[in-house]
Amino acid sequence: MQERDVIIIGAGAAGLMCAISAGSRGKSVAVLDHANKVGKKILMSGGGRCNFTNYYTEPTNFLSGNEHFCKSALSRFTQWDFIGLVEKHGIPYHEKKLGQLFCDNKAKDIVNMLLVECEAVNSEVRTHCSVEKVERQGSGFLLSTNQGKWTCSSLVIATGGLSIPTMGATGFGYDIARQFGLKTLDTTAGLVPFTLTPNLLEQFEGLSGTSADASVSCNGTHFRENILFTHRGLSGPSILQISSYWRPGDTVEINLFPDIDLYEHLKLQQKERPKSHINTILAETLTKKLADRLADLWFSEMKDKPLAELSNDALQTVATQCQSWQLKPTGTEGYRTAEVTLGGVDTDEVSSKTFESKKVPGLYFIGEVLDVTGHLGGFNFQWAWASGHACGQEL
Ligand SMILES: Cc1cc2nc3c(=O)[nH]c(=O)nc-3n(C[C@H](O)[C@H](O)[C@H](O)COP(=O)(O)OP(=O)(O)OC[C@H]3O[C@@H](n4cnc5c(N)ncnc54)[C@H](O)[C@@H]3O)c2cc1C
Repeated sequence: MQERDVIIIGAGAAGLMCAISAGSRGKSVAVLDHANKVGKKILMSGGGRCNFTNYYTEPTNFLSGNEHFCKSALSRFTQWDFIGLVEKHGIPYHEKKLGQLFCDNKAKDIVNMLLVECEAVNSEVRTHCSVEKVERQGSGFLLSTNQGKWTCSSLVIATGGLSIPTMGATGFGYDIARQFGLKTLDTTAGLVPFTLTPNLLEQFEGLSGTSADASVSCNGTHFRENILFTHRGLSGPSILQISSYWRPGDTVEINLFPDIDLYEHLKLQQKERPKSHINTILAETLTKKLADRLADLWFSEMKDKPLAELSNDALQTVATQCQSWQLKPTGTEGYRTAEVTLGGVDTDEVSSKTFESKKVPGLYFIGEVLDVTGHLGGFNFQWAWASGHACGQEL
């Protein structure tokens, strides 16, 4: 029988940060993970360079049933605290865009940093450890695992969400929450590409890899970044962001000319360059390939006519189609490629200060397993660091 003050299940971003935080306060800590190595999602994140935080992290960058829940932890361990840790370890990094910070070299630098910090405070990290059963024992917990029995007074669940099951994601955290009578909210894939009807895919065939700067909106929220045509549908940062706000059956609106009033622009071009064609004008903003294809699909009857021959109504049709393109995805690529899971353990069930269950003293939930989901751009890791740190300070 192994005894610890604190056992953390899940050696991902939140679990490792919690182990550092609790260990630094003199707690005996073990982190147990069923995977063959720790921090797999950190390693694969940001194209292998880990977008580890964002300069502009604010509570408004997070979705949750309770928009206030994330505020306390985010304010007690900020992006600047994590940047301080990265700098302490001499890890080179850079801002890519929009405050997004990436390692110059590789994501492994972040995992190594977390493991060095764990070791420095004697927090043990075990891989290949499957937790078979969790039971209440007195005021603490008894865990049965493939590496024997463990007891602890505080049990922290940091098993993350359901995205990328091949990387070790499981619904374990939700099962534990339900086992102890805590409410969980329905989960869906977030930050995920859209799939399209076979008909639309056929229309966009050959555009795979083409991108466009666009403003994409759905359910009262909009994002402005690139969209990317893929073999399966649409991806790119704008699409991933809006996917977290999209529900099955919803239509998204895409503005391919977010900086201008396209109708006014076309009117002006008609006056100044009456012999030019619609696709020429569109190709001054979009790629030629995309402009030609959209002109073929949407304005075939106009595309061979010079602007001078097009009526105001025709120009308005072009502007409306390009600036309010109504697109109905058939679905998303799901957890297989999603970066995050929306929903999860209901934040009403845990304290936003300590992350302890209100119903089950000694049981804690941190990171993505909770119903807190960040936007794309380093916010999800910042939530993992902040919730892990805050919880570790209270164990
Ligand atoms: C492809 C991809 C790229 C991403 N890129 C970024 C990025 O650049 N920036 C960003 O901010 N966010 C990014 N994210 C999101 C980010 O990785 C997660 O939000 C974050 O890792 C959540 O941290 P966590 O500690 O809560 O969970 P995780 O990091 O998922 O860790 C959970 C751990 O629990 C373990 N576990 C699960 N079930 C069990 C079980 N039954 N028993 C034992 N252990 C278990 C897992 O093996 C894992 O080690 C990305 C996600 C993906 C999938």
